[in-house]
Amino acid sequence: MKSSARVVVVGGGVVGASVLYHLTKAGWNDVLLIERGELTCGSTWHAAGGMHTLNGDPNVARLQQYTINLYRELERISGQSCGLHMPGGIMLAGTRERFDWLKMAKARGRYLGMELELISADEAAKVFPIIDKKYFVGALLDPIEGHVDPYGVTHAYAKAAQIAGGEVVRHTRVVDLKPRADGSWDVITEAGNVHAEHVVNAAGLWAREVGRMVGLELPVLAMQHQYLITEDLPALKGQKELLTSIDFEGEIYTRQERGGVLLGTYERAGVPWSSVETPWDFTQSLLPEDLERIAPSLEVGFRHFPTLADVGIRKVVNGPFTFAPDGNPLVGPIRGLKNFWVACGVMAGFSQGGGVGLTLSQWMVEGDPGADVWAMDVARYGDWATLAYTNAKVRENYSRRFRIRFPNEELPAARPLRTTPVYEQLQAAHAVFGDYCGLEHPLWFAPSAEEAHEEITFHRSNAHPHVATECRAVHEGVGLLEISNYGKFEVTGPGTEEWLSRVMANRVPQVGRVALTPMLNERGKLIGDFTMCRLGEQRVFLICTWAAESYYRRWFERHPPPGGVTVRPCAMEYVGLSVAGPHSRTLLQGLTRTDLASAAFPFLSFRRMDIGMVPALVGRISFTGELGYEIWVTSEYQRALYDLLSSAGRAQGLKLFGGRALNAMRIEKSFGTWAREYRPIYGPHEAGLGRFVDFGKSEFIGRAAALEEKESGGALRLMTFSVDAAEADAAGDEPIWHEGRVVGWVTSGAYGHRVQRSLALGYIPVALAAATDGFEIELIGERRAAKRESAPPLDPAGSRMRA
Ligand SMILES: Cc1cc2nc3c(=O)[nH]c(=O)nc-3n(C[C@H](O)[C@H](O)[C@H](O)COP(=O)(O)OP(=O)(O)OC[C@H]3O[C@@H](n4cnc5c(N)ncnc54)[C@H](O)[C@@H]3O)c2cc1C
Repeated sequence: MKSSARVVVVGGGVVGASVLYHLTKAGWNDVLLIERGELTCGSTWHAAGGMHTLNGDPNVARLQQYTINLYRELERISGQSCGLHMPGGIMLAGTRERFDWLKMAKARGRYLGMELELISADEAAKVFPIIDKKYFVGALLDPIEGHVDPYGVTHAYAKAAQIAGGEVVRHTRVVDLKPRADGSWDVITEAGNVHAEHVVNAAGLWAREVGRMVGLELPVLAMQHQYLITEDLPALKGQKELLTSIDFEGEIYTRQERGGVLLGTYERAGVPWSSVETPWDFTQSLLPEDLERIAPSLEVGFRHFPTLADVGIRKVVNGPFTFAPDGNPLVGPIRGLKNFWVACGVMAGFSQGGGVGLTLSQWMVEGDPGADVWAMDVARYGDWATLAYTNAKVRENYSRRFRIRFPNEELPAARPLRTTPVYEQLQAAHAVFGDYCGLEHPLWFAPSAEEAHEEITFHRSNAHPHVATECRAVHEGVGLLEISNYGKFEVTGPGTEEWLSRVMANRVPQVGRVALTPMLNERGKLIGDFTMCRLGEQRVFLICTWAAESYYRRWFERHPPPGGVTVRPCAMEYVGLSVAGPHSRTLLQGLTRTDLASAAFPFLSFRRMDIGMVPALVGRISFTGELGYEIWVTSEYQRALYDLLSSAGRAQGLKLFGGRALNAMRIEKSFGTWAREYRPIYGPHEAGLGRFVDFGKSEFIGRAAALEEKESGGALRLMTFSVDAAEADAAGDEPIWHEGRVVGWVTSGAYGHRVQRSLALGYIPVALAAATDGFEIELIGERRAAKRESAPPLDPAGSRMRA
């Protein structure tokens, strides 16, 4: 083994091998993979090898497409067969709701260029003859599905990497990782040390253990997973290979395995494996089979696929593989650890391994993943994702693998975890809570405890009329919203303005003022939207998306402030309440000596003031489009502030409102939000944020690219649409049609209660930005007429919030 390498990849499963290959492909050849046993000896060797393109996140779906298309190239380069079978796949719907879900999946596939086909149950039985069609209402066909040989694929990656100069060392365990002062690493192995510039943790089943070597507790957990292989089925003899299948109601997947059928299941009562520590002596091993546990799924399977009941079981496999709490991979650099990267928690190595390798190698070589990888960025988790949290969420996710996730559905596991001081008061006011980064935050308020739950549906839910009431209260009177679920940073010290001016695209505001600003990467794409609130010459309070806090901290580490400037995350130190609506000033003025008249405290002001006895930071900011104030207090004051506002607000008819109403109101104002409208695939001009980019400043990150985008006009435009919807509104990811062609996609949607119509925000090509008519938005498989709005539907001049 060599004693130094540019990169050491720890782990030779399908993911580590893919990372190694992609690094060589990107031009880094001094790369070394260290594997403690044989390649594939972790979870890879016993995988069923199935692969498919659909994923809940369109960007992950794209990487899955990339992976599947890679296998032929890999075979060509390496000379190693991947055992590729591409019979196509069928997804079977046993209920109307599931069929609706398939319609939506087909719709989403349209703008990803996927050729999916909806068919009836009769047609399904023709193309997939092993089913009893009476259990199904229809199906979706995907020609790009199949399976590979896990051993072949992993070795093909390794061989292709070796051809390009990469090295693979087997039977050598990495026992420790020691950072050097310059950011490089000493990789301590059983066979000696390697000095590496970068280390990649691709240790699969042992990713947690390798993480712990550097003080990191990664949110991954292995679950036991079982599949069986039947004896040969006479009906398959001499026939074309069976389609791969998913039977959602049976929670079963199948594919042909030689003359028989491989049938696997994600049972509801899934069992974790090695929930705290993974044994190092588990090499090329399996777990004892437990057919009893999957008996309920098998019973359904044998009913739905009756021919399978006629043959015996040849083999049962029970093996562990790892998941992150949301089931997506954990990829990227780790904040606080220079040159340390992860590629783990990959639960679908044969659909995702290629995309993970591509992303990580581009990130390492180019400094940017080259695509929108937020859904699998390791930075989407923070400290709240503890071992026990991960355990609860992974089990939930596993049990729901083939269940529908409705757009309004909140999942119950690991809750409540984080609560604010006013949680009990909001509960007493019949709040229906959502979970955001482990924090309970109110979505809407029901009139009674009995009604404080939401039906899950693709259509408008029982929350609809109550959200309407909340919006009306904010529009006509005053509403109170808990706003603790934002990220916050405090930037202090000499050089604060210079540093912010370099990392943010807009001008840093004057003391006492607020400025909205995009944050751009070097490619001029949106990686954040911040509210900069200037409290003093050397003190700026930043408000941003909380879920991205780790992501931003990692970025700030890469672009550090000068000595003397401190950037302090303080999300839960400052919790907040907001009052919004035409009576909000009267309400607040009654509680403070600070003059809130527009002349004294105009729109976009920010100041320290007392509200009753409570010391607060108050900003005159509006995400609802109405006159409004955001009030930030350290957490010990939030309860007193809530009580004060509630009792003073009685005279004004103060009404609590929640996240659902806020979402609807911001869409009525065409205001975008991070992870929906603002993502690293869009530029600021495309996203309608051009006015918040200050080219008057000499330099800021992304300036040249943003200027180029401004001059060229960019490729896309974020637009607002009114949709001729019936009982369902857009929720995101629906295709936008124009004159019979899919031209774009929806990023958010809601019913706009103040303007009384269904609305959607979405991106279309810039060439269509002037067209108003001829648009349609596909809602649950139905193309509904849509009209492009030429201005925000509510108060385009913005006079209400500036009142
Ligand atoms: C029963 C079953 C069926 C499955 N079916 C499918 C399927 O149909 N389709 C699909 O896409 N996926 C399937 N999977 C999941 C698939 O197996 C995983 O997605 C994939 O194997 C993950 O690969 P990995 O490289 O991340 O992890 P692993 O395969 O666990 O690889 C990690 C490697 O790192 C090595 N390692 C760890 N620590 C060290 C160290 N300190 N030093 C040196 N080496 C180290 C290990 O020995 C191991 O070889 C299935 C899994 C199971 C269990």
